[in-house]
Amino acid sequence: MSGSAIEHCDVLIIGAGPAGLAAALAAAPSGAHIVIVDDNPAPGGQIWRDGPGVELPIAAMQRRNAIARCANIRLVSGTRVIAATAPSELLLEDAERGWRIGWKKLILCTGARELLLPFPGWTLPGVTGAGALQALVKSGLPVAGERIVIAGSGPLLLAAAATARKAGAHVVRIAEQAGFQAVAGFAAALARWPGKAVQSLGLFDASYRTGRHVLSAQGDGHVEAVRLRRGTQGEEVIACDRLACGFGLVPNTELGQHLGCAVEMRHGAPALTVDAMQATSRADIYAAGENTGVGGSDRALVQGAMAGHAAVGAIALAEARRGELARWDAFAATLHQRFALAEPLRRLAAPDTLVCRCEDVRHAELAPRNDWTDAKLHTRCGMGACQGRVCGAATRFMFGWAPTAPRPPLSPVRVATLAALHSQDHSAEETTHAA
Ligand SMILES: Cc1cc2nc3c(=O)[nH]c(=O)nc-3n(C[C@H](O)[C@H](O)[C@H](O)COP(=O)(O)OP(=O)(O)OC[C@H]3O[C@@H](n4cnc5c(N)ncnc54)[C@H](O)[C@@H]3O)c2cc1C
Repeated sequence: MSGSAIEHCDVLIIGAGPAGLAAALAAAPSGAHIVIVDDNPAPGGQIWRDGPGVELPIAAMQRRNAIARCANIRLVSGTRVIAATAPSELLLEDAERGWRIGWKKLILCTGARELLLPFPGWTLPGVTGAGALQALVKSGLPVAGERIVIAGSGPLLLAAAATARKAGAHVVRIAEQAGFQAVAGFAAALARWPGKAVQSLGLFDASYRTGRHVLSAQGDGHVEAVRLRRGTQGEEVIACDRLACGFGLVPNTELGQHLGCAVEMRHGAPALTVDAMQATSRADIYAAGENTGVGGSDRALVQGAMAGHAAVGAIALAEARRGELARWDAFAATLHQRFALAEPLRRLAAPDTLVCRCEDVRHAELAPRNDWTDAKLHTRCGMGACQGRVCGAATRFMFGWAPTAPRPPLSPVRVATLAALHSQDHSAEETTHAA
């Protein structure tokens, strides 16, 4: 398909994680022409990320195989959404070309990303997010024999540690910022969700400690040690070859906001607003999974199925899943209550700590600013390649700022893709004039 072609489908799904795959499989029996677009090389999203040596769980393989068997589902991997080009049309780009796609119903299943908080040394080579380390290892990063410290908050720390250990790394410490009582309370509450209890037992790690948070990463050209606060018991310094530090997840709402969908604060972060049938504030757009509020893969699967059914008019099938969703919403609420971020984490950065890594903006330059827009105008914070995806969420937590909706392009884009768009608009205009 050339840069000027327009593809059409009945149901367009953005994101091939648990929510997107479940949405496609729920919509498929209607016979609708379905397209799933995802920017990763293979379907699965974050939890079922594929890569060299990765053994995907049965739940992931079953869904991948089922999608492959559906003649009315087209999976388009390695493809990013650049912008909306009309109310029901998106501009897409893969490694070779750009094209437009129009839809009758759109389901946003764009997931979440990690919350990274700046601290002294966080930009040293060898320091990554916790989920980012997991993604790197699954993509083939060799870590065998390395000493790794994993810090931050939430169950993702344990999942990342399990992946690193399986790849031969020596996980020397998992530092959870939540206190012992909060974590013990979470473990006790898991009796309501037995599957999660079993999963967490399998992830247990003797190096796990509660009530600790990162203070700084130290090293000359690469991380060599991490300094941790040990609750009220002072500090400890641990030698390591890598530090993986993530403070929970932030919903990916940007595409929805760009399309005019409403957002609301849920569990302390903006999330896409949905009704009981997963419809957003735009009747032709649904949302499912972590972009509606972080709550784990089981909630994403149920929401995805509900959105898929609802998008093709199978309302009774969607309604039948509401009880299940309520159960996973309760799990999400417990998770956020128990792993709420502690107040001192707002003050991890020193005056010379970079907050915006794309535009090299330091904490001292941001501290006097009034809000996100003021900071952008005076410092270029959030105006680099990631368009504020990292520093926007960090400054929301540190300063209480509310980043504004993103402007297109939503991802870096090739000039050829934009030029093809322009030439198509131009030739359409000429055709209209000639007629
Ligand atoms: C780095 C990371 C690692 C995680 N690891 C685990 C884990 O090991 N265990 C666990 O239980 N939970 C994990 N999670 C939590 C995870 O988010 C959920 O459990 C589950 O994957 C959510 O499913 P989802 O379908 O909502 O979103 P995701 O699985 O995040 O899927 C969303 C998909 O949409 C794609 N996408 C987003 N925006 C666009 C766009 N504009 N254009 C094209 N494609 C787009 C993404 O690349 C992704 O493939 C992880 C989260 C993160 C951020």
